[in-house]
Amino acid sequence: MRPLARLPRTGLPHTGRLRRVRGRTIFPLAALALATACGPDAPPPDRILLNGLIWTGDSARPAATAIALRGDSIVAVGFDADIEALAGEATRVENLEGRRVVPGFHDAHWHLPTRRTADLTGAPNVDSLVSRLRAFAATLPDSAWITGRGWTPDMFPANTATSAALDLAFPDRPVLLTDRDGHQSLANQVALRLAGINRSSIAPPGGAIDRARDGTPTGLLRETAAAPVRERIPPPSADEVYTALQETMAAAARDGLTALQIANGLNEAEEEAFARALAEGTLRTRFRIAVPFVPLPSDSALSEWTARRDRDRGPLLRHGIAKGMLDGTVDARSAAMLAPYAVGGGTGLPRWSLDTLVETLARYDSAGLQVELHAIGDAAIRQALDAYEAVAQRNGPRDRRHRIEHLEVPNPADLPRFKALGVIASTQAVFATPDATALQNYVPLLGPERAARAMPFKALDDAGAVQAFGSDYPVFPMSPILGMQMAVFRQLADGTPEGGWEPQHRISVEAALRHYTRDAAYAAFREREIGILAPGMLADLVVLSDDILDGTLATFTRARPVLTIMGGRDTYRDPALR
Ligand SMILES: [Zn+2]
Repeated sequence: MRPLARLPRTGLPHTGRLRRVRGRTIFPLAALALATACGPDAPPPDRILLNGLIWTGDSARPAATAIALRGDSIVAVGFDADIEALAGEATRVENLEGRRVVPGFHDAHWHLPTRRTADLTGAPNVDSLVSRLRAFAATLPDSAWITGRGWTPDMFPANTATSAALDLAFPDRPVLLTDRDGHQSLANQVALRLAGINRSSIAPPGGAIDRARDGTPTGLLRETAAAPVRERIPPPSADEVYTALQETMAAAARDGLTALQIANGLNEAEEEAFARALAEGTLRTRFRIAVPFVPLPSDSALSEWTARRDRDRGPLLRHGIAKGMLDGTVDARSAAMLAPYAVGGGTGLPRWSLDTLVETLARYDSAGLQVELHAIGDAAIRQALDAYEAVAQRNGPRDRRHRIEHLEVPNPADLPRFKALGVIASTQAVFATPDATALQNYVPLLGPERAARAMPFKALDDAGAVQAFGSDYPVFPMSPILGMQMAVFRQLADGTPEGGWEPQHRISVEAALRHYTRDAAYAAFREREIGILAPGMLADLVVLSDDILDGTLATFTRARPVLTIMGGRDTYRDPALR
């Protein structure tokens, strides 16, 4: 991006002219010409971005062409001449050349990967999966555990994952592979032996061990049944965790993300990595970190978590939310459903009784902690809503913003309860990717009636729910542009399926943008600081290569961030911009 030659400053507001930006005529209204937080004696901005096509997300001023930043904040939003008039000698002025600008993307449900692991995403079959593992294993010490993630059942013969191919390829090294959704794992026989899982083992509550006819475990471990194997893997060192954090923040900035909400409690090494990054000034993303949601927590545990919340009040690092799990996933047939799965039967693996859930929730709620509950099946979603309702009645009115995560298959009768109870719908648009797993595994398991009402982004909006978007990374890619593509089109990049998968659930680009910015901020109690571009807000914004608001699939598949700014600093800059 070339810095503009400084134009003569007139000092007069230019509010009466028509402006043309990439062929569009913009009619500036005098009353809306300039929103500024600069008083007459305020120092000039550090930085001005001109000639942009700015979607502010601010209903008081939806569109603008220029923005002025000072320190970590926005000081003015308006049209070019007015904003440029604020420039001082030292102000850095950049020309955006008509590019689309939106508030920094904010992922409301995200996880930090802290271990190097083989990426199995999209392997066409089990042979290809094994060859990826061989290549990855070659980068590890000889006897180290081989871990991988991202497999789906369709990679295996008869859509059934077993350890057979892994036992052939790795007869003397332990292997543990997590599926794409993180709810079932495939262990080879070495790993099962190390974990003591055999014909006489009983699965822990909330888990299942798949077995052959003779009772031998096949290697497939659902939900909590994988825990004994996972516990055998040596944890990554503090340095490895810190490196993973730095690499992941760089990737997030490339995707235009300026804020991430971590949907799990962290271990000590992970908490240390964040404390170190904060102290060293290397945090490039705003984070909110969850604490665990455990049955009937003690007062001392609760006060430890509220102390963490009260300690981290800065603009970069926050605590204050607890993450719990009520069920599993549809693909693993562990999401808790009101009616049996259409294939294989069963109604899933609910993890809580309503009584214990309400008692537990009441303790967190009384401590003033926000709660987010993973609930995918219609039975689990209803249980979460019932529990939130009971606790609100018991503890009285308050701005709680408790959340339900994923809520893939809500019963239509429950949709109005989100608004009525003030419960946030924390959804993942990218889950609506209509790939082979969705169409050949997910849809048949639900059956046609339920599949037709899965991931109802439009119905949630229509019901008045606050809907915050996230990716559930690393389960899915974290790119918000990809996520919004699935919310707006429900089509793959090649335009399939024609018309979109269950197109009645599609939403507008602007609605998708709000869910990835302002609504995600609201879900973290931060809507007064981030989520829209307005004076006084923190300076988090993204400049895109292409204008996604033109509403075409081709633009979405091409568009990428070229400049990401978090707190006034560049966290990603396309090398082509200089
Ligand atoms: Zn998650």
